[in-house]
Amino acid sequence: MLRENSPTASRLANFGESVFTRMSRLAAAHKAVNLGQGFPNFDGPEFVKTAGKAAIDAGFGQYARSFGLPECNQAIATRFHADSGIEVNPEREITVTSGATEAIVAVMLGLVEPGEEVILVEPFYDCYPAAISMAGGVLRSIRMVSPDFAFPVEQLRAAVTPKTRLILINSPHNPTGRVLSDQELSQIAKIAIDNDCLVVSDEVYEHIYFERKHTSIATLPGMRERTIVVSSLGKTFSLTGWKVGWTIAPEQFTQAIRSAHQFLTFSTATPLQRAAVDALKAPKEFYTQLRADYAARRDAMLCMLRNVGFDPFIPEGSYFVLAKHEPFYLKPGALAPDEDFCEHLVKTVGVAAIPCNAFYDPAATRDVQESTSMIRFAFCKDLETILEAGRRMQAVMKPTLEETKVFKMDR
Ligand code: PMP
Ligand code: GLN
Repeated sequence: MLRENSPTASRLANFGESVFTRMSRLAAAHKAVNLGQGFPNFDGPEFVKTAGKAAIDAGFGQYARSFGLPECNQAIATRFHADSGIEVNPEREITVTSGATEAIVAVMLGLVEPGEEVILVEPFYDCYPAAISMAGGVLRSIRMVSPDFAFPVEQLRAAVTPKTRLILINSPHNPTGRVLSDQELSQIAKIAIDNDCLVVSDEVYEHIYFERKHTSIATLPGMRERTIVVSSLGKTFSLTGWKVGWTIAPEQFTQAIRSAHQFLTFSTATPLQRAAVDALKAPKEFYTQLRADYAARRDAMLCMLRNVGFDPFIPEGSYFVLAKHEPFYLKPGALAPDEDFCEHLVKTVGVAAIPCNAFYDPAATRDVQESTSMIRFAFCKDLETILEAGRRMQAVMKPTLEETKVFKMDR
């Protein structure tokens, strides 16, 4: 049957095109410096690329086992044990997926019944609500608020109902850069245990933190049996296009995730899984260097943004920094001032950033001022790129503290 209004099924029609796709397209069209979509503009490490080429040459060319090449599952288990102290069974508790994105969709499809509730914390990564919708789940959102983006423990307690199936958290966090503290993690854990909910912990930025080390909530007492850890190679090895991800979950939840995964993608690219084994064996020094490099990029980004006139929030982890556009722009009554600002930035100034309303629940009736007040800059870029963005912005943007704030850019 042909539907006249929208050919897209209602479970996806509202999501439109991803903000990352849109901003990268605009960046290319306007030859802008792309600080929008979070992908490194430098290559991944040679030892991982060499392992990928060797795997192709060695004939790793057919389907892998659906839930992962055995040595890849083993390497993930070994890495997770080294990082968290938790022993997991690689055969029964790990599923290799095509990136964390597929993992999240498989978790929702495998575990959430239509009508069950999933709690997300605003601002949240854009694929979460779409994954919930595809599974027929119901999104319940709570909010971390600037300037400190503290975890809203009381809101979480109030949002849990008998229908809550999952609480999805993300630390180190995209887009705020928060790394949840031990106290915040304990409070979340207590609520999950008291209400018998599962926690999905998106840890794709697990190795990119600055002051406080990342802790997986799975390590807290009573949490291993109710946590599904999601991660991937993309950020740690600067190879976002490889799309090798995984879930780590107790056996019964792993079975549910695999039920979805086998019909979503069946299996993940075999040679890349083989190369992931070498990647995951990287020595401690690799991770130390990764953090040192990102600390330098973060400092360059913060310094550049301050010189331009922004007052950025200091990220504790991940590779994003948020800033209010308010020093430059406040258009009373504008529906989406962050969209407006980013569009001007990419088209006229030549710098792409992400308007943060994309990370908020449009159905929630909360302060729109907050959800449209920020833009996100990615610092997974070489220093010259960050500096060039600064030069472009400084040339045409002047912050204003006048009473009626309008664009102070040459429009
Ligand atoms: N979770 C978060 C918080 C992310 O920022 C991203 C995207 N980079 C993903 C999941 C998706 O990861 P992947 O590229 O491995 O699918
Ligand atoms: N995670 C990346 C970001 O937040 C985007 C990944 C994507 O476009 N799917 O920028």
